[in-house]
Amino acid sequence: QAKRQGKSSFAHFTPEMSEVSHERLQMESRMRRALELHEFELYFQPIVDTATGEVSAAEALLRWNNPVMGMVMPDRFIPLAEETGLIISIGAWVLEEACHAATRWKDITGQDIGISVNVSPRQFRDSGFTKTVMQALSNSNLAPDLLELEITERLLLDNSIETAEILRELDREGIRLSVDDFGTGYSALSYLKSYPFDTLKIDKTFIHDVTKTPGGASLVCAIINMAHSLGLTIIAEGVEEESQTHFLKQEGCDLSQGYFYSRPLPADDFTVWLKAHLPKQT
Ligand code: C2E
Ligand code: MG
Ligand code: MG
Ligand code: MG
Repeated sequence: QAKRQGKSSFAHFTPEMSEVSHERLQMESRMRRALELHEFELYFQPIVDTATGEVSAAEALLRWNNPVMGMVMPDRFIPLAEETGLIISIGAWVLEEACHAATRWKDITGQDIGISVNVSPRQFRDSGFTKTVMQALSNSNLAPDLLELEITERLLLDNSIETAEILRELDREGIRLSVDDFGTGYSALSYLKSYPFDTLKIDKTFIHDVTKTPGGASLVCAIINMAHSLGLTIIAEGVEEESQTHFLKQEGCDLSQGYFYSRPLPADDFTVWLKAHLPKQT
């Protein structure tokens, strides 16, 4: 810690140090302290049944409230958290927090609301990952099948036996697995039959094109049909317009997520939203 800070103030006074790397070092040292200073916060975005609009689950999305930088979005700090390895402790915090939130929703509503958590490659490959996940589940007393871990195709690029084994272990524990940003990262589709995924999340760029071009619509149809024939649940990401919801309903897309339904919300706001969108009790 002291060494880090020393390094970063040294960087500050080196004229040839570029503006960019100075900023990086400064962000890194702030990030090292962010967990203990309680600067991280989870936002929740609902995932709804496309046919009925009723809530099914929520995705946990990380925000960093720093007194100097303001609210920092994940695209700005997750890459650095990965490079420095800080994502391992931050990610463990996210899992704990997310599982506890889902348990609270069950207490409040009496219904099962799933929680999806993004997992980055560095975090996934850490030897303690499975244990961290299991601990978050037992600490929060959450049923494993209410937790879905979102993994990008990028993680599967290495084709490693270890990756396959961890996925299978998580699957055996009853945890759900999804492919995030589907269609953007990986060309071969064979992994879909060899790994135990439950869900595909179609990337928002494809959803954006659905009502813009005939090709865009066909592509999304093909993805939905492929997913269903493999027994996978399909989620449309980035749904912003009503016309998109009509299309997705018509094509039988199971679940939807996007600004059209709700932006990601702080925990308290999400609870309010949740109560208004519960499935009707049978
Ligand atoms: P993602 O997992 O694909 O999450 C969806 C992103 O799309 C979120 O951005 C969300 O706010 C945004 N989004 C949702 N609906 C719409 C919409 O209708 N239109 C548009 N244009 N965007 C929409 P966010 O929160 O900025 O997160 C960005 C990425 O950061 C995430 O992409 C995920 O890869 C990563 N991330 C977020 N939280 C975590 C985390 O706890 N751990 C890790 N490892 N990565 C995270
Ligand atoms: Mg995600
Ligand atoms: Mg499974
Ligand atoms: Mg995504």
